[in-house]
Amino acid sequence: MSDNVHNVIIIGTGCAGLTAAIYAARANLRPLVIEGHEPGGQLGITTLVENFPGFPDGIQGPELIDNMRRQAGRFGAEYLAGHVASVHLSQKNADGGKKPIEVNLGRETLLTRTLIIASGASARWLGLPNEQALIGHGVSSCATCDGFFFSGKEIAVIGGGDSAMEEALFLTRFATKVTLIHRRNEFRASKIMLERARRNEKITFLTDTVVDDVMDVSKQEVTGLRLRNLKTGEQWDLPTSAMFLGIGHTPNAQFVGDQLARDGDGYLLPIENVCSRVPGVFICGDVADRRYRQAVTAAGTGCMAALEAEKYLEEIGR
Ligand code: NAP
Repeated sequence: MSDNVHNVIIIGTGCAGLTAAIYAARANLRPLVIEGHEPGGQLGITTLVENFPGFPDGIQGPELIDNMRRQAGRFGAEYLAGHVASVHLSQKNADGGKKPIEVNLGRETLLTRTLIIASGASARWLGLPNEQALIGHGVSSCATCDGFFFSGKEIAVIGGGDSAMEEALFLTRFATKVTLIHRRNEFRASKIMLERARRNEKITFLTDTVVDDVMDVSKQEVTGLRLRNLKTGEQWDLPTSAMFLGIGHTPNAQFVGDQLARDGDGYLLPIENVCSRVPGVFICGDVADRRYRQAVTAAGTGCMAALEAEKYLEEIGR
């Protein structure tokens, strides 16, 4: 860094942000990585990760993140805890030249020539009294990550959209029975996905039903759900070994406002690969990905964003 302007600021410390940090640091760009509210992203709240290449026996999510963090640190990446309140991406000097990008953390404003947005998407949770305490112990928002652990068990899936159908169908590979619980009797899911789920003999539908709580924190595992029928008010307990949430994700891109293109749900839309419409601003990981949402795909786009940032800095003579 010179003249108080960073070469690269990376927002986010999930797989995408930390992979970008490794690449940018190895290119001697001394990236500054902003950690945010959920350090480590979604891997930070996962248990065993068995589908990240290179770990034949699996690796704990937080350990994988810590490895990446240290790997980037070894090459000169620096970390700063803070919440990005806003960014100002494209400002011109009086002579028409580009001013540095501003990253506003509330207490201070940082300046940078390139910005990599890797702020991820947060799974939506139901907000039940015992839900957070059982994440990683039977409560999950990722069937691809955690389904295997419930082989031969009964599983519940919450939601009525495509994500819930996809999770329920995927989980039938492992579970003896999947109960799909939805708060209404109509579904947002596409007809084809809904029909596929309905035809699957392992899936049972419970509609007009909500979850009031998940048990049992004292055993550190999911043993059942307290359910309530919204039409009759009847409450009962459903024994189950896991609760998978399929109620959608929220991309963490509020701080961008309308400076970059976003879809109707707020996901950032790159114009080409990881490049945004603002030169020097790159987008990677789940903040722009509603489709794959895997650690390895996030890491791949993080790498691409760092390579683009490096190329951009070369082009502007840095
Ligand atoms: P979604 O379509 O917004 O559906 C979310 C579901 O969760 C809805 O059924 C909603 O119920 C329910 N829900 C939300 N908050 C809830 C709460 N607090 N309590 C109980 N239920 C709650 O989200 P999505 O399924 O993640 O899909 C998002 C987008 O990605 C969609 O465009 C979808 O088509 C796409 N997608 C596509 C695929 C695929 O093609 N393979 C797979 C996954 C996602 P209500 O209906 O009552 O609001």
